Amino acid sequence: MKNCFEEIKGGLGFGAMRPPRDKNGEVILGEFADMIDKYMSSGFNYFDTARGYVGGRSEDSLKKCLTSRYPRESFVLCDKLSSEFFKSEADIYETFEKQLASCGVEYFDFYLMHALSSRSYKKYSELGAFEAAKKLKAQGMIRHIGISFHDTDDVLDMILSERPEIEAVQIQLNYLDMDDPGIRSRANYEMCTKHGKPAFVMEPIKGGRLVNLPDEAKAVLSESGGGTPAAYALRCAAGFDGVRLVLSGMSNMAQVEENIALFGDLKPLSERELEAVKKVCEILKNEQTVQCTGCEYCTRVCPKDIAIPLLISCLNSRIRYGEGGFYYEVYTSGRGRPEDCVKCGRCEAACPQDLEIRKILERTAKAFSGG
Ligand code: SF4
Ligand code: SF4
Repeated sequence: MKNCFEEIKGGLGFGAMRPPRDKNGEVILGEFADMIDKYMSSGFNYFDTARGYVGGRSEDSLKKCLTSRYPRESFVLCDKLSSEFFKSEADIYETFEKQLASCGVEYFDFYLMHALSSRSYKKYSELGAFEAAKKLKAQGMIRHIGISFHDTDDVLDMILSERPEIEAVQIQLNYLDMDDPGIRSRANYEMCTKHGKPAFVMEPIKGGRLVNLPDEAKAVLSESGGGTPAAYALRCAAGFDGVRLVLSGMSNMAQVEENIALFGDLKPLSERELEAVKKVCEILKNEQTVQCTGCEYCTRVCPKDIAIPLLISCLNSRIRYGEGGFYYEVYTSGRGRPEDCVKCGRCEAACPQDLEIRKILERTAKAFSGG
């Protein structure tokens, strides 16, 4: 059987969760295809998707821009079983079939149990998700089983001990979250190492937060001469021995080109650059901005259609620059406003960053009251 670990080329994964989109939210297919062509022709081949990404458009976009245009063996494709798509064991098989059809493939190279935590692991276990994945693997429709993970290292230890079938773990790892008591990037990475599991890194730039730095932080990095803020973040994430792959949710050709150049000649951060990164962490931790990664898991479950991550980005703009009012009106036009929140808490249950979204929305409403 094909060993996909050996077939992953270059260590840079293409995350299909933030493709280029038009003003209606539709994926701009021509641009996305060009980005994929550039990435593939530069010697990379790993693509990551999930059924809920891009409001359900990610899998189909990959079918149109990747799987229908390239031979199956030329790319490695990872999809995920997300909690909102199954309520029974039968749903798991039905969802899986739909995913294959949406992606236009007959098998997935990697299939991950999505966003596992102590709470969601219970559901995946009780409804037989791991057993289903093992059956699909035995039938050749999954090459490797894995998990994406958002919880503490003791929970990861428990899951990896109970589930030897897990072959890879996708973890959130970036310099800001390294020793964060909630995210625990370093401890989770070390747990993967302890269990001998390769780590796939997600959120290396924390949903853009480590790129859109305040001026003071940008100046610190610039003085150290280690490249752009994105380069610092990606080099930091890729610099761990057990990291097999760093995912980047690339949104335009400039990002693809920058990442390709970076991974073509990847150097870990020097001592001086690590010191600069530590200073940036101090600056960011002293800010009162909200640590949202823009993953949109919350918006998928909000009954009031509140554009939560976009409103958080407005709030962050207001805190950092005193701006954000124009886009606040754009993002609340024809959609839910923070004041419409019914406090059901579904968004908070879905948020991998454990953000207190209800309180944040109250803060947002207050920040923009009066225009
Ligand atoms: S608590 Fe408010 S923002 Fe969160 S899902 Fe419920 S209505 Fe939406
Ligand atoms: S609030 Fe949480 S779930 Fe929503 S986009 Fe931000 S990080 Fe993701």
